[in-house]
Amino acid sequence: MEIRTFAPPSERPVVLLKAVPLLKAKSEIVVVGAGAFGGWTALHLQLLGYRVTLIDAFGPGNSRSSSGDETRVIRSTYGSNETYFDLNRRAWQLWQNYEALWGVKLLHRTGVLWLCYQPEVPFIDATLPYMKKHGLSYEYISADEARYRYPQIFFDDLHHAVLDREAGYLMAREGCKAVVAAFIQAGGHYIQAQALPLPIKNGQLPGVVLSTGSIVQAQAYVWACGAWLGYLFPEILGNVITATRQEVYYFGMPEAHAAAWEALPVWIDWSRGEEFFYGIPGSGYRGFKVAYDKRGEIIHPTHMDRQPTASLVEQSRRFLAHRFPAMAHAPLVEARVCQYENSPDGNFILDCHPEANNCWFLGGGSGHGYKHGPALGEWAAQIITGAKPIETLFSLARITTA
Ligand SMILES: Cc1cc2nc3c(=O)[nH]c(=O)nc-3n(C[C@H](O)[C@H](O)[C@H](O)COP(=O)(O)OP(=O)(O)OC[C@H]3O[C@@H](n4cnc5c(N)ncnc54)[C@H](O)[C@@H]3O)c2cc1C
Repeated sequence: MEIRTFAPPSERPVVLLKAVPLLKAKSEIVVVGAGAFGGWTALHLQLLGYRVTLIDAFGPGNSRSSSGDETRVIRSTYGSNETYFDLNRRAWQLWQNYEALWGVKLLHRTGVLWLCYQPEVPFIDATLPYMKKHGLSYEYISADEARYRYPQIFFDDLHHAVLDREAGYLMAREGCKAVVAAFIQAGGHYIQAQALPLPIKNGQLPGVVLSTGSIVQAQAYVWACGAWLGYLFPEILGNVITATRQEVYYFGMPEAHAAAWEALPVWIDWSRGEEFFYGIPGSGYRGFKVAYDKRGEIIHPTHMDRQPTASLVEQSRRFLAHRFPAMAHAPLVEARVCQYENSPDGNFILDCHPEANNCWFLGGGSGHGYKHGPALGEWAAQIITGAKPIETLFSLARITTA
């Protein structure tokens, strides 16, 4: 299967969904991984009345995690996939609620500007019915109008732009820290240590062993370990989660106009197939962030060296000079080397171990997971505790029976 960020395929019929026992309130649950997926799941489980222990080897939003960069895009556009559209709507609402509750600015509603080469853009157009259903609309902007509104952007090779207003960017690593702080505030127990699974016995995972030497036991375990999942459970997830190297760059903005550059919407240089440039101009004052969405080499997230690659920096610099001419000689002020934790079809994984229904896997963010954290965590908490069935789109069976 092809790995893609922007158009995970629609649901396929799947059989063999497992029966999950209902977990009583106050049951103990261990969540391993305090990134966007594990942190929000732990918080929601704790708020539902479970006794939750959250464990992370390197800490929430650490530099080796996929959630550990400064910023991540949040967008409505998901082609014809309504599951992700709805998940994003719920996430948008929860990001707003929680940042107000916590008094911390995490969601920047700058909009997302799609830069379109062709008059028709099926991926954007396919989302229109869902936008209408929710009383939302896109703004279609002609190249002439866009040139006037966004003088920093070169529009001569573009047909038009589309502005998605219910979109923008999230403060990523700060968000992870805020979630864990709220989790602790709600009574959750947080431990910094590496956790490894004990061998499965009688159809159950009996516990996890920590790098400190102690064993933690619970009624259920959730492994939200991002790019580490395939390495932790090689026999089940080794061919399901593939970790690929990804680089993002922060370029310095013109000093006299940095505020105007920071205020630009997130932009996505679309219509060039599955490999494209995108960027987040205001990234917590780190610089003008540029990324190229192409899967890099397969890596191990603990051991990967995180120096940027000179040839890839140059590639981004050439793109920048073309699309944002005033940035042609912008200095590189920072870079981050991260990883995608790809599932084979780009859809998330939320399912239990085939031999232990108290051992859950949550991951496969595939380059688009961060924004969904609050809503996915809420949904995951209901599935893990048996209140809702496993979602077909996220099941392991969709891959193994495909
Ligand atoms: C360059 C790049 C750009 C992206 N852009 C976007 C975007 O614009 N919008 C968007 O929505 N998404 C985006 N994503 C995807 C998104 O960031 C990820 O899908 C999401 O952050 C995954 O979160 P996670 O919790 O699954 O994994 P992680 O954030 O990696 O968290 C996993 C955690 O598990 C811990 N851990 C692992 N193994 C163990 C162990 N054995 N014991 C204890 N702890 C352990 C790690 O320390 C880590 O903190 C992007 C990703 C990358 C790399």
